[in-house]
Amino acid sequence: MIVDAQGRRFRNLRISLTAACNYACTYCVPNGRRLQAAVAELGATEMRDAVDLLIEAAGVEKLRITGGEPLLSSKFDELLPAVMELPLADVSITTNGQLLAQKAAGIIGAGLRRINISLDTLDASAFRAIARSGDLATVLLGVRQMLDAGLKVKINMVPMRRRNADQILPMLDYCFERGIELRFIELMRMGHLRRGNQFIQEFFGMDEILAVIGNRYEYARTDAPWDATAVRFEVPGKGTFGVIANESEPFCSTCTRLRLSSNGWLYGCLSNARRHDMRPVLRLPRPQALERLRQLLMRALGDKQSLGFRGEVTVMKFIGG
Ligand code: SAM
Repeated sequence: MIVDAQGRRFRNLRISLTAACNYACTYCVPNGRRLQAAVAELGATEMRDAVDLLIEAAGVEKLRITGGEPLLSSKFDELLPAVMELPLADVSITTNGQLLAQKAAGIIGAGLRRINISLDTLDASAFRAIARSGDLATVLLGVRQMLDAGLKVKINMVPMRRRNADQILPMLDYCFERGIELRFIELMRMGHLRRGNQFIQEFFGMDEILAVIGNRYEYARTDAPWDATAVRFEVPGKGTFGVIANESEPFCSTCTRLRLSSNGWLYGCLSNARRHDMRPVLRLPRPQALERLRQLLMRALGDKQSLGFRGEVTVMKFIGG
């Protein structure tokens, strides 16, 4: 097992199936243009083989399939059942939900138990202003289908001042009523948000989120796994919610995440643009591949920040949210 001086190892793997997305969210792209696939993205078999090798070389136990928008990728239908066969404790997907209705049968048929759906607002015009594409009702239908099929659903919301902070309570009530855990993700200084005023103007931190919630509900902090990204809270009789407090309460010291981009780069840290090429590894016989991969993983582990998220020029589309 490859472990660093702080006891961190790579337990959670996130794979970005494609950099392409059917949204153009304000926090992800500056110009409103939808993202395209990266040059030379890995195929479904290569992705599956990469996951298989990372399970053995790094001790990966949990896999999240993300993007870009994973459901947009032609690889999705082949990859999901293939990774469900691998010895993993948990497989989940992060999606914007726009294509869930079309993909529901395959997702349910593959035996997926958990899904995270990104939704920043229940207001249709704010939805279009943030995602700059897509349709709110379609996402809500997808949420319903996943719940009806018995999947555990979490919703990711990025609260932003003057964009959707007024939606914190409506979103929380929507989730409480349906047994969904809402995750508030603090805006991260990725890509174009690293410079300029947008981040400063829109950042809506954990203290402010909790102040809004505290106006309506009594809440208490509750347990979370030691390497969880979210700080979790309970509203007695209603449900739980979480805050991924990248800025307010960084979780770098217990981070166990590793990311594989759609075109085969390994990233040990969201806040570090250093990357390691997995493509040559995939062409080696298994024993040599594992040996080479362990060398890359040691370097990737060394890329982790020790204290907090500094921001980075990389964007989620390439390295998977
Ligand atoms: N397209 C999929 C989706 O929307 O869920 C998966 C990829 S998306 C990059 C994953 C998550 O990252 C989404 O919940 C999105 O809101 C979040 N995200 C992207 N850029 C962000 C940023 N700068 N700050 C905080 N969250 C961000």
